Amino acid sequence: MTVVGLDDTDSRERGMCTTYVAAEIAERLRRASDGDDPVSRLLLVRLNPAVEYKTRGNAALAIHTDCEPDRAFDIARDRLESLAETADERTNPGLVVAPGEPDDVPAAVSTFTGRAVRDHLEITDATALLERHGYRSWHAGDGRGRIGALAAIGSWKGLEGWTYERISYRESDRWGTPREVDPESVFAAADRGYPAVWDTVDRGEDETVCVPHTPGPILHGVRGDDPETVRAVAEGIEGEPVASSQLFVTNQGTDAHLRDGTLESVADGRAYRLDGRVASSPETRRGGHVFFDLEGVRSGDDGRPPSLECAAFEPTKRFRDRIRSLRVGDRITACGEASRGTLKLEKIAIRDLVTTERVTPICPDCERTMESAGRDQGYRCRDCKTNADGKAQRDLERDLEVGWYEVPPCARRHISKPLVRGGFDGPTHPER
Ligand code: ATP
Repeated sequence: MTVVGLDDTDSRERGMCTTYVAAEIAERLRRASDGDDPVSRLLLVRLNPAVEYKTRGNAALAIHTDCEPDRAFDIARDRLESLAETADERTNPGLVVAPGEPDDVPAAVSTFTGRAVRDHLEITDATALLERHGYRSWHAGDGRGRIGALAAIGSWKGLEGWTYERISYRESDRWGTPREVDPESVFAAADRGYPAVWDTVDRGEDETVCVPHTPGPILHGVRGDDPETVRAVAEGIEGEPVASSQLFVTNQGTDAHLRDGTLESVADGRAYRLDGRVASSPETRRGGHVFFDLEGVRSGDDGRPPSLECAAFEPTKRFRDRIRSLRVGDRITACGEASRGTLKLEKIAIRDLVTTERVTPICPDCERTMESAGRDQGYRCRDCKTNADGKAQRDLERDLEVGWYEVPPCARRHISKPLVRGGFDGPTHPER
């Protein structure tokens, strides 16, 4: 067995897409073989979404094949050299080929994958491992693509909870032109496949999420929990001709980027699950972004609890209504990426809701609000001569329930786990 890893072939302006290069390499491997299908699977691995070098979704690709390593290397290199958009100086393709079973990669390589998904790595981290294990590699530009390529090699052992995406590609003479896809057929196919297939459409925003807007070769990509249902949904979508399609095994929809953390440990460029208490009323600022402060449950060394600004940005659409409904004192778990000291929310769990508030008492006779009777003197109604010792308690109507809330499909990060997939530690309120 041979594992081929590749990354960074894509340019934001010029198009292309590393999944397409991987599918092309797989096709060449098939053509070069005279026996059974030499390709056992293609992996689409999403790495740390906070990495600044990414073109869009920080994807790296791996191909598992029984083609012998040197032959696989030559085929992959040939395809990368002719397809990678190296005219864009930000495109730095990398290729790594490892002999042996994908399950048997050294522990240092699978650990490298975990770090590539949750942390930041240097090119030298990759080159040191390549040398140590004698993997053949090729690169162009600054060689950064070898980070993702090596991470893709270690992913089969280093990651778990795989999902599927069936990507259908356009005929090449249509690349860069508007896509012709019948939206009604997309919604109907998505309904038939749900909940095994998710994030195909956003019903609230009336958007066909599976059809990209970028200039590349993808017509649509259908994501889900099993290969048969993603195929059936993809085949149910009507529109322009599909030139080819390929199934990818992926870590999309798994939350592999999130780490459990505490508010004091948060560092930019990493993504967390954080427990805390809402410490300020949510505030909508210019652009429609909603902010609040989250406070740690325990005090820090200075006697004050640590706190962190959390944000639901405008593109998260109706999720912002959930965030606006939070009140000071609610206990939550917040998930998202820390960026410039702000947690960009992807989902939250309501653990405990404040259900009462303390208010100035009402006079039982005239039903008007009482006045303060002086410092520590309680409240009184001057006209009716009634009084009260302190504030009264009033029940609060809450629009939220205990459990998980998420951004809608149109705002989902590739790697974020949709609630409909289950496995969460509480009730869920999935968006669809
Ligand atoms: P493409 O479709 O071309 O793969 P993309 O959005 O996936 O587009 P890339 O163009 O691959 O982004 O750019 C990401 C770059 O960052 C790659 O060179 C990859 O090796 C590198 N990279 C990925 N993860 C990390 C990480 N955790 N630390 C440092 N560099 C990383």
